[in-house]
Amino acid sequence: MTDKPIKYRRILLKLSGEALMGRMDYGIDPEVIGRLANEILDVQKAGVQVGVVIGGGNIFRGAGLAEAGMDRVTGDHMGMLATVINALAMQDALEKLGAQVRTTSAIKINEVCEDFIRRRVVRHLEKGRVVLFAAGTGNPFFTTDSAAALRAVEIGADLLLKATKVDGVYDADPKKKKDARRYEKLSYDEVIARNLQVMDTAAIALCRDYGMPLRIYDMTRPGDLMRILKGQAIGTLVHAAA
Ligand code: UDP
Repeated sequence: MTDKPIKYRRILLKLSGEALMGRMDYGIDPEVIGRLANEILDVQKAGVQVGVVIGGGNIFRGAGLAEAGMDRVTGDHMGMLATVINALAMQDALEKLGAQVRTTSAIKINEVCEDFIRRRVVRHLEKGRVVLFAAGTGNPFFTTDSAAALRAVEIGADLLLKATKVDGVYDADPKKKKDARRYEKLSYDEVIARNLQVMDTAAIALCRDYGMPLRIYDMTRPGDLMRILKGQAIGTLVHAAA
C-alpha cells in the first residue's frame, strides 16, 4: 500500500476542538496534538498541500455559553478566540517537528497570526507551508464546519476531510446500537434529508453546491489520513449522487 501514489494535490482537514482533547474533558492533550501534527506533516512531506480548520469546542462554544446566560454573539466571539488558541497549539506542535506553518485568522488579531487573505494562503500552500485557519468564518452563528466547507471551496481543495472519533457515518449511534450500519457513500441530499449528524446543514449545502467531496474518518487510527490520500475507501464519502 505504501508505494501507491497520492491521489490528491490539496486537501482541507477539519479538526474539531474535541479531537484535541484526547481523553481529557477540556483543553488540549499534548500527546494527541503531537500525533496529529505528525500525521499532517507526513502527508505534507509526501507532496500534499494541507490546510487545516481547527474548532474550539474543547474550550468554548457560543451556544453553550448562551445556554448559561451569556449574550450569544459574545459567546461566539469567545468560541472563535478558542479556535485561535487551538491553532497556536497546533502551530507549535508542527513547528517542533520542523514544519513550515502559517496560522491565519478570520478575525483581525494580527499580532498573533496573519489575517486570512485567500491569495496569500494559496501562495503559502504552493510553497509547502501548512496553513492553519483559525476563528472559523469570522462571523457569529456559524460553526467551524461551515468554515471548513467555505475554506475548502475557496482554496480549491480536492477533498475536505472531517476527522472525528468515529470511523464514518452510521444509520444509528454505533455506541448505542450494536447493529448500526456504516455508510460507505452518501449523497449530500441524503445527509440533509436524513438529518445525519455529519456536519451542519450549511456546511453540507455549500459542499453540495460547489461539488466538494467530503470524507469522514476516524482520526484516532494512526495512518488512516495517508491511506485515504492513497485512495483507500476508509470512513464515509459524501459526494454528488451518481
Ligand atoms: N464560531 C463562530 N463562527 C464561526 C466558527 C465558530 O462564532 O464561523 C464559534 C461558535 O461559538 C462555535 C465556537 O466558535 O461554537 C467553536 O467552534 P465549533 O463549535 O465549530 O468547534 P468544534 O465543534 O469543531 O470544536
